[in-house]
Amino acid sequence: MAAQNDLPVPLLDLKAQYRTIKDEVLAAVTRVFDEQAFILGPHVAAAEKDLAAYLAVPHALGVSSGTDALLLSLMALGIGPGDGVVTTPFTFFATVGSIMRLGAVPLFADINPATFNLDPPQVAALLARSDLPAPPKAMIPVHLFGQPADMMPLMTLARAHNLKVVEDAAQAIGVVYPGPAGPANIGAIGHTGCFSFFPSKNLGGAGDGGLITCLDPELAARLRSMRTHGSHPNEKYRHIYVGGNFRLDAVQAAVIGVKLKHLEAWSAARRANAADYDRLFSDSGLVAKGLVGLPQRAWPDQPRTHVFNQYVIRVRDRAGLTQRLNEAKIGNAVYYPIPMHLLECFARLGGAPGDLPVAEQAAAEVLAIPIYPELTMGQKERVVEVIAGFYAGQ
Ligand SMILES: *Cc1c(COP(=O)(O)O)cnc(C)c1O
Repeated sequence: MAAQNDLPVPLLDLKAQYRTIKDEVLAAVTRVFDEQAFILGPHVAAAEKDLAAYLAVPHALGVSSGTDALLLSLMALGIGPGDGVVTTPFTFFATVGSIMRLGAVPLFADINPATFNLDPPQVAALLARSDLPAPPKAMIPVHLFGQPADMMPLMTLARAHNLKVVEDAAQAIGVVYPGPAGPANIGAIGHTGCFSFFPSKNLGGAGDGGLITCLDPELAARLRSMRTHGSHPNEKYRHIYVGGNFRLDAVQAAVIGVKLKHLEAWSAARRANAADYDRLFSDSGLVAKGLVGLPQRAWPDQPRTHVFNQYVIRVRDRAGLTQRLNEAKIGNAVYYPIPMHLLECFARLGGAPGDLPVAEQAAAEVLAIPIYPELTMGQKERVVEVIAGFYAGQ
């Protein structure tokens, strides 16, 4: 191949990003310290207003993490012990952990092999079963790796079965679902949208944080109350719900407020990196030989329909390849090696190998490679060169 270099390529380089915004971030954080106003207050309100505008939703509520966004959403929608929640087995633990923590029962439907997202026909088949372990009351579609789940057929199924819909948008802030009624921002389709500001997400804070979006003003008021122990909006120590401490803190809000201004440019850079990888991998011959499977776009011709929180390929001999990448100091990770139905802490659900074959095969084949916005062409070329070199040596 053309370029020979030995640049290290981390999976994510937050320092490279920080260098470009350091002064802005420190000025915003300094204002919070000068005011000594750390809990909710004007910085959180300002970030919520900006995020609501960016996501084109009427209500956006800062919360303590993406995990808590999911948990609080389910609590506010009345999901509790014995309720079934339809979701995907191929996701981060928090999606399913939040269901289990409420005593609710995850009902897994298999994924689409091209997009890794919940497959509407599989959801339809699941909902048609007469032997479900719990009556379905809600659905959590996950917009995995930054690409929307196919929300139109999922919402049709949800309406037919009277399910509440909580979108797990932790990896997908700013992505657009190209619905038949025109493009819709994710987080504005289900009853709530749940976002994460974990530092490795596309919009990451300086610690933990998250966001809930919703359309319904009554639900927004309930979420707002439950975020602070279910307290009455005007009367202190009068509690109208059993909520919790689910607040976003002001330092995080200040950082998020600064970084939000850059998010569209960063998402565009991630998409450009993905297009470069697609081309480099295709040119290398690895795709034609069936050694590397590229991430599939559900809507290749529509703008902003992927924000590439991860660029995930399918590979042959993953263990050998990751060893080679580690030796070459090229960041890589498996999201996720164990599908949820096979996790030991969920053993009481009775999941077994073979139950959800598409998710199980994905778990065995996927590999995420560096896609962060500041990646250079030399780094992208090196990643593909090292992968091509690994297969050439076999
Ligand atoms: C990161 C993530 C979460 C949890 O977000 P935290 O802010 O880390 O609690 C939930 N779901 C998915 C799919 C995620 O990627």
